[in-house]
Amino acid sequence: MTTPCSTDILISGGGIAGLTAAVAFATAGFDVICVDPTAPITERDVDGSDLRTTAFLQPAQELLERCGLWNRLEAYAAPLQTMRIVDAGGDLPEPRIVRDFNAADISDKPFGWNLPNWLLRREMVARLAEMPNVDFRPGIGTRSLFTRDTGAKVGLSDGTTVRAQLVVAADGRSSPMREAAGIDVHTMRYGQKALAFAVTHAIAHDNVSTEIHRSGGPFTLVPLPDHDGQPSSAVVWMERGPRVTELLALAPEDFEAEMTERSCGLFGPLKLASRRTSWPIISQSADHLAGQRIALIAEAAHVVPPIGAQGLNMSLSDLRCLLDLAEARPEGLGDAQMLDSYHKARIRDVKLRVQGIDLLNRASMVHARPLRDARAMGLNALYSLAPVRRTLMQMGLGVR
Ligand SMILES: Cc1cc2nc3c(=O)[nH]c(=O)nc-3n(C[C@H](O)[C@H](O)[C@H](O)COP(=O)(O)OP(=O)(O)OC[C@H]3O[C@@H](n4cnc5c(N)ncnc54)[C@H](O)[C@@H]3O)c2cc1C
Repeated sequence: MTTPCSTDILISGGGIAGLTAAVAFATAGFDVICVDPTAPITERDVDGSDLRTTAFLQPAQELLERCGLWNRLEAYAAPLQTMRIVDAGGDLPEPRIVRDFNAADISDKPFGWNLPNWLLRREMVARLAEMPNVDFRPGIGTRSLFTRDTGAKVGLSDGTTVRAQLVVAADGRSSPMREAAGIDVHTMRYGQKALAFAVTHAIAHDNVSTEIHRSGGPFTLVPLPDHDGQPSSAVVWMERGPRVTELLALAPEDFEAEMTERSCGLFGPLKLASRRTSWPIISQSADHLAGQRIALIAEAAHVVPPIGAQGLNMSLSDLRCLLDLAEARPEGLGDAQMLDSYHKARIRDVKLRVQGIDLLNRASMVHARPLRDARAMGLNALYSLAPVRRTLMQMGLGVR
């Protein structure tokens, strides 16, 4: 029998959230072990690479700076100065209402910065390799959890055991550690999927992120740096499942024609600049954000449809909260007082955002014309009141 090794924090999951957590806690001086059965893919054009991008909003960017990641990422980041909402819910796929939310109305910085997920993994893994107090173990997963008041014992898939003061579950929407801790979730399904890919286009994006609503879900273009000398954007196109299956089966030229029409031609003809990947869409939230010696973060705690760049940004708010609590009272790392405070500090914001984004997604999916007209009127009404508009922008950023 091998002797269990000990650490301050065991992170289950090395997705973007788990890797960021490993860097953040290690930068704060804690000893960290991070495990993930799947090794991160750190190149764009290989099978299985994550072609989604993440728009890091202002508070998330500050966290990346705090843990020494931002200086590695800054050169690849495309700033998001304006969020444009387009309603194209009329008879023809053309814009009938266009409303711009400009970051300059509330801040002297952009709303956020967009970065490809595969590149984030590459830079995070490189940062981890510089840190002597992190042990990153790709290819190994968590299997079992045993907790007491005094600590946790986690069984790993290689047969070893780790003792930790705190277990951070960042192991995704089906989180094995959440299940092992016996924490339930509430899930809502939409029968909807998201296509994620990169495009090039003739018309410059001018650092504007554009969300176009017609039916089936939003079609969103988020700025990327130029690709092969052409303006480029990351696209997230949400539709009902059967429509996504049809779209995936189309030849590239036919797909390009469909997406150019769906984008209302706002950027000229769109050309595919990557593979097409598809992601199931659900909303989900855990009943409790912590258990004995375990904290849930990111998709282990909450899943939202990709609208308004909220998913990973909520996850980094989880992480910031845990980190502040750990730094304020390091001797209480993982104890009931810390985890109770974590749950109380985060649960309201999590539930509010999950419900809010659920509502926005359902509004974007509507097919019947009267409902689409009502949606357009709602957008107009919210936009026309300047204080409401500013409050919405601040809430979107997570600073209210
Ligand atoms: C199309 C799309 C676009 C999006 N765009 C944005 C955006 O612009 N901005 C934003 O903020 N959010 C965005 N999101 C949300 C964001 O991508 C997710 O919140 C984020 O990727 C989830 O990260 P995660 O680390 O929680 O989960 P995952 O990426 O699912 O990572 C979980 C990890 O846990 C590992 N794991 C599983 N089992 C075990 C085990 N037993 N032991 C250890 N590890 C295990 C898995 O291998 C995986 O690597 C988007 C989501 C989608 C679907």
